[in-house]
Amino acid sequence: MFELHVLGTSSARFAHGRSVSGSVLNTPGGLALIDCGEGMQKRMMDHNRALKSSGLENRTRISRIRAIFLTHGHLDHTWGLLPLLQTLDLDGRRNDMVVMGPTTREAIEWATQHPGETPPEETGISPTDLAILFSQWQSIGTKDEASSYSIDWVLIPIDDDTPFKSPIQPLEGVTVTIVPTHHGVPSCGYHFETNRKQGRFDRERALELGLTEAQIGQLAEGKDLTIDGQDFSAASFRGEPRPGCSIMVSGDTAHGPIGFNADHLPSSPQLLLHEATFLADKQEKATQYYHSTAADAARHATTCKASALALTHYSSRIDHLSPLVSEAREHFSGGVAATLDGDWFGIDANGDVVHHVRVENGWNKKNL
Ligand SMILES: [Zn+2]
Repeated sequence: MFELHVLGTSSARFAHGRSVSGSVLNTPGGLALIDCGEGMQKRMMDHNRALKSSGLENRTRISRIRAIFLTHGHLDHTWGLLPLLQTLDLDGRRNDMVVMGPTTREAIEWATQHPGETPPEETGISPTDLAILFSQWQSIGTKDEASSYSIDWVLIPIDDDTPFKSPIQPLEGVTVTIVPTHHGVPSCGYHFETNRKQGRFDRERALELGLTEAQIGQLAEGKDLTIDGQDFSAASFRGEPRPGCSIMVSGDTAHGPIGFNADHLPSSPQLLLHEATFLADKQEKATQYYHSTAADAARHATTCKASALALTHYSSRIDHLSPLVSEAREHFSGGVAATLDGDWFGIDANGDVVHHVRVENGWNKKNL
């Protein structure tokens, strides 16, 4: 089961009551953040309080964060990180934290040689490349004395367009795949999948064969048996492995990375949370600034064979969201939702995706 709490749906700046990027993913292996724009810790606390007061058991406590996945270094996706890390230190956190994000090998090399510095223009390395920012953030630290917990800063070099399994897997029972995207700086999306469960054990067949309870127990535990010269393989009593839950978050991207093609992904996501900065009338602008239109987001949802699409990251020029949904529906036949701050999605292994729409005193449920 995954829960994705979307706490910022605006691109670049706060607008129309919408904050900049930041989502909380609740997984069986712990809580993760995907991006951490300005004010993220306060948004998490407010959201947590709202969940509690509406009687729900779901929570977004900052103390529970295991890992923070950044999609790229632009400040509207990262400016809330240091204050959040500092609060955890003030709270006396003990558990390690993983902070990871994409970069290039050249930027890692430059940052290693020039720790804490800003690369001059002729290097071609952006000052907001995460290799540069991580180096600067580590040199600032979160306070003067030693921190109460340690942070594992993980840079993921992106070589080409092909998705690959993350070299660091901080969420137990969940496999994270890096999906390189096309943006102005090294960038990626993330695909999360809970591990597949073994197939159902066929107890009826074992009983029909006259096996004892003890023998059935051994087969169910995966032990092969030989009874009166006859072989029974444990695997033959198991059905097809059951798929896990899966979700994918696009990050910022122009249309077209091959990672949005289902053939390159470990599984088709049940839910794709995708940026839709513009409507198709601004396609040229979207391409120029490496962003997507609602139509682009929907095309990606179709190519990756997602079951449902949730739109986010709207330009401040977009006031009403219904045109985005109508545009997306022209290019994608699954469920489409226009996410607003405080909405969350529940995704279970049966394939259900439920959109919890924020209303004044709680949330309304809507199947996607
Ligand atoms: Zn952005």
